Amino acid sequence: MKIGGFQEISLLDYPGKISSIVFTVTCNLRCPFCYVPQLVLPSKIKKLKLIPQKQILSYLVMNKELIDAVVVTGGEPTLQPDLYFFVKEVKSEGFLVALETNGTHPEILKHLIKNKLVDYVEMDVKTRLDFNKYNQVVGGKLTMPLFQKIKESIHTLLNSPINYEFRTTLMKEFHSKEDIIEVCKSLKGTRNYYLQNVKTEYETLAAKTFTPFTEKEIKEIMTQCKRFINSVNRRTI
Ligand code: SF4
Repeated sequence: MKIGGFQEISLLDYPGKISSIVFTVTCNLRCPFCYVPQLVLPSKIKKLKLIPQKQILSYLVMNKELIDAVVVTGGEPTLQPDLYFFVKEVKSEGFLVALETNGTHPEILKHLIKNKLVDYVEMDVKTRLDFNKYNQVVGGKLTMPLFQKIKESIHTLLNSPINYEFRTTLMKEFHSKEDIIEVCKSLKGTRNYYLQNVKTEYETLAAKTFTPFTEKEIKEIMTQCKRFINSVNRRTI
């Protein structure tokens, strides 16, 4: 895999576990608020020193006693042709595996779930499932087939036996309260849905900052969402 970053230890990225995080490069979307432009934009990726997969695997093996799980994120990890083989190797060493995805490759998601190579999936649902709205939030990169695939990934997870979560990053430039309530309607039956405010302290892909919701507004949205989803949570990290 093309790996642009590695975080040895995280207490926050796999629920209840100590994890390492693997950041793959490249993405097929261009969300303006994206915090990892260095993993997304080809001009920035060129400047990265990629980390050999072997180096990461030997770190994991050497630290087995400490680390429970490996979170594979990006960029968009499902674009890596050898993702399957990487997670297979990680699983064979006894680690739990989490995958963070934008949902554009449901076939890979299904394959990993079917082969028990992923234990937890975190999928971004960027906004309500309206093509034009969604396309704005992903920087104009949406096509109708891609949109169908995102919907298919949602359906796959909703009907999956594994643990998963959906999440939406809130910002006033792209979301109204009604948009998020519509997301909740589409995710009816989900086990977990997280709302996280856009962060203002990071460099973004659009090289500008976005406006978070107020705590009061988020509480109001959560109250409305609970009409459709039992477990709506606020993520503050
Ligand atoms: S936030 Fe958007 S552009 Fe950035 S990695 Fe995720 S899907 Fe890709």
